[in-house]
Amino acid sequence: MTSQIEGIFARQLHERRKRLEEAAARSGRSEELTHLLRDVDRALDKINNGTYGLCEICKDSIEPERLTADPLIRYCLDHLTSTEQRALEMDLELARQIQTGLLPRKEILLPGWENAYHYEPSGPVSGDYCDIIVPKGSDDTFFFIVGDITGKGIAASILMSQLHATFRALAATGLPLHQLMGRANRIFCEASLITHFATLVCGLANSDGNVEISNAGHCLPLVLRSEGVDRFPSSGLPLGITCDGKYTTERSHLKHGEMLLLYTDGLSESTGNTGERYGDDRVVDILKSEGSTLPSRLIAAYLEDLNSFASNRQRSDDLTLLALRKV
Ligand SMILES: [Zn+2]
Repeated sequence: MTSQIEGIFARQLHERRKRLEEAAARSGRSEELTHLLRDVDRALDKINNGTYGLCEICKDSIEPERLTADPLIRYCLDHLTSTEQRALEMDLELARQIQTGLLPRKEILLPGWENAYHYEPSGPVSGDYCDIIVPKGSDDTFFFIVGDITGKGIAASILMSQLHATFRALAATGLPLHQLMGRANRIFCEASLITHFATLVCGLANSDGNVEISNAGHCLPLVLRSEGVDRFPSSGLPLGITCDGKYTTERSHLKHGEMLLLYTDGLSESTGNTGERYGDDRVVDILKSEGSTLPSRLIAAYLEDLNSFASNRQRSDDLTLLALRKV
């Protein structure tokens, strides 16, 4: 663990200790508070003697994302007690259900567009963000978003739900897209750890086929036209890198039958049976060969191709695909 990250945990633990002491001053030192203070002091001692983040049984590193979610944990996943194991499984299942509930409705109707998406965590929960937002009172425009938070698992999934809340709130403000991204970046930057950032594409489309896209360092959105495949350029740094990040908006128009595809690197960076990368060219090839159809069929074609490319491998990264076709 780097001293910088250790410093972040130390600050969090000192802050937690202060709050516990304040609670004890207000309501007396209950048995529970005494236990919590002891746990915090134990973690601070470990930071001082250089053993913080190591499992107390095997001395291996504790999974960083678990430590981020709870800086007081003492054992790696292999050495949980059976009670802790069961509690963890129940927590993860609940987190999975909550996250699934944050996804856009599969049957959502959009003005002038067909749509489909695929959202697949590599574990119980995902660090990808996928959303379609129809602002209240709007019958002509909608937002579409695909993002990818660094890391996987619980910490990333918590930040995913934060992005979800942020964009849901900002979508109602009517801000120009580049300003909306700047605002979302500031909120994310101020709330997340310096170890975490998010690449993300946020788009706004209307029933005439006009599309605006702002891209914070994410895989480039692709458009299949009769002349070939276009790419929307990236227009800013990933969210959370710097709090005053600036973003721009790219504009385009899609004609009847043209297809827009957004995806996370769980597709393009996927590794095959012999260790080779799936790659951006293959993403483009499938779009060219299968993109003149329904969005749901295009996504099915990617999943079929990905499964044949990596048939022996379990997914190592979260995967999200979102396809929109102008009708
Ligand atoms: Zn262990």
